[in-house]
Amino acid sequence: AAGYQVLREPAWNKGTSFSPDERISKNLTGLIPHVLESLETQCMRALRMINSRGTNVDKYLYLSSIKANNTDLFYRLLIDNVEQMMPLVYTPTIGDVCLQYSTLYTRPEALYISIKQRKSIKTILRNWPYKNPSICVVTDGSRILGLGDLGVNGVGISIGKLALYTAAAGIHPEQTLPIVLDCGTANETNLADPLYLGLRQKRVSTDVALEFMDEFMAAVKEVYPDMLVQFEDFETEKAFQYLERYKLEKCFNDDVQGTGAVILAGYIGAVNLSGVPIEDQRLVFMGAGSAGVGVAKQVMEYYTRRGLSEQQARDKFYLVDTKGLVTKDRGDRLAEHKKLFARSDNNGHQFQTLEEVIEYVKPTALIGLAATFGVFTESVVRALKISVDAGGLARRPILFPLSNPLTKAECTFEQAVTWTEGTVIFASGSPFSPFTMKNHDSITTYYPNQGNNVYVFPGLGLGAILAKASRVTDAMVYISAAALADCLNSEEIKMGLIYPKIERVRDASVVVAREVMKAARRDGVSKLPEEAWVEWEEWGDVALTAWIKKQVYDPRW
Ligand code: NAP
Ligand code: MN
Repeated sequence: AAGYQVLREPAWNKGTSFSPDERISKNLTGLIPHVLESLETQCMRALRMINSRGTNVDKYLYLSSIKANNTDLFYRLLIDNVEQMMPLVYTPTIGDVCLQYSTLYTRPEALYISIKQRKSIKTILRNWPYKNPSICVVTDGSRILGLGDLGVNGVGISIGKLALYTAAAGIHPEQTLPIVLDCGTANETNLADPLYLGLRQKRVSTDVALEFMDEFMAAVKEVYPDMLVQFEDFETEKAFQYLERYKLEKCFNDDVQGTGAVILAGYIGAVNLSGVPIEDQRLVFMGAGSAGVGVAKQVMEYYTRRGLSEQQARDKFYLVDTKGLVTKDRGDRLAEHKKLFARSDNNGHQFQTLEEVIEYVKPTALIGLAATFGVFTESVVRALKISVDAGGLARRPILFPLSNPLTKAECTFEQAVTWTEGTVIFASGSPFSPFTMKNHDSITTYYPNQGNNVYVFPGLGLGAILAKASRVTDAMVYISAAALADCLNSEEIKMGLIYPKIERVRDASVVVAREVMKAARRDGVSKLPEEAWVEWEEWGDVALTAWIKKQVYDPRW
């Protein structure tokens, strides 16, 4: 009986890799085929299966069954094949999985806490089978990716994101806790579906949701005092409200802060390549939501840290939403999060289209976070190039169409390269392929960048956990961006990249985590013993880097 249990527990199961001795001592003889395989051979079998599945959701389901059977195999697959696996365990596939979750559901993988269970939050948290989780990702399903309110079915986001914390930064799988707060849903399709798994009621009001959130945060603090809480895919206004409200707790929001940091890292690299001095930089943002404002705030800090006043830094940003340029005198009730960047230099004029804004601002960088396909048209991109060229011909425009998935991208890489005659510095949200263009008699291959949050949140989380930080300070978030910008190796620099290659994400996470830890210490929020720091500081970064690498999960048998 004991042997069978070993095979049923994903954390213990090694499949066909149990050694002859283990097979005897664990009573496994005859319970598995005779062959002795390496983890790599098991990965090869899994890859062949994944490649043979016709749809991404089927690939996801297959991966998910591996996760349920053999933890180490699942993560080895992810770690060694990040580029192929990431879109399966996270966006875009996870979006389809969430949409179909009522049907796809086979087993629980998270904590489901409904607002009807407000009185039992602590009990539910204690029911989680693993001891002392160090990080949870929590969503209320109210704005899942670009898919709107999916109610409890948004839980796939918490699950997928945590798989990336493990794959990209090596946080141990047993330390991760996915959570969904079920507050009802506005999604009529779900409410009418007999298979829907959540509370069958309209989403509760923002006030009630806030009380629930307060209770949740208090319960977490009591049951798992050291656990880091990552907020994910809350509606924009709630996202900003909670960040402000819980800023002294151990938490952060990846949609706002993680996005802000990863795009800032790319922007730092881009500014260096652009030939445009920082005093001449002006940024137009298409989109003023959680990502748009999150990025603008983070980049603003880059400028204040370079000696600009708050006002000078803020003046560099022009945000555009569905009503046009965000101005103070627009006559609508501006959402709280937009107020910081609302302009007052428009002399009563209302700029409605992106073309008008570009004509007025003459920007050097154009950032797309409006989830609207094709809004960076040829005339928009050419106008950007002209306004950059006006400052000197060696200058290069910065163009970041960041909306996901690909069907929402503001423009393609090929368009960006063509319309700027190859001068563009480009980063997108979704991946593009390299593009080869003939100019006169030479042929040049251009490499795109992907500003994927996965470069930042795993390392930020790992750093906060390892530093035993009591909270996540602004400096910790900022340094995660600066550290990532510094991560490029010589090959990447030669290729003109502004992010490391995705295969190197685990290297990047270690560097990000290390710098985040040091920032936590500088901010006085690290609860690590003083002796540890003294020893590390003696050896510079080498010792701390080595120590981090020793802490992380990297499955090998
Ligand atoms: P959000 O909070 O819903 O904000 C969307 C913003 O875009 C809102 O300000 C909205 O205006 C504006 N908008 C929508 N349609 C527009 C249009 N046609 N013209 C001008 N503005 C328009 O969404 P979010 O969380 O910020 O995410 C936005 C996009 O960013 C998504 O596609 C997401 O995938 C992407 N994203 C990418 C990354 C990354 O690359 N690393 C990270 C995070 C998010 P109103 O305020 O007037 O409604
Ligand atoms: Mn998100």
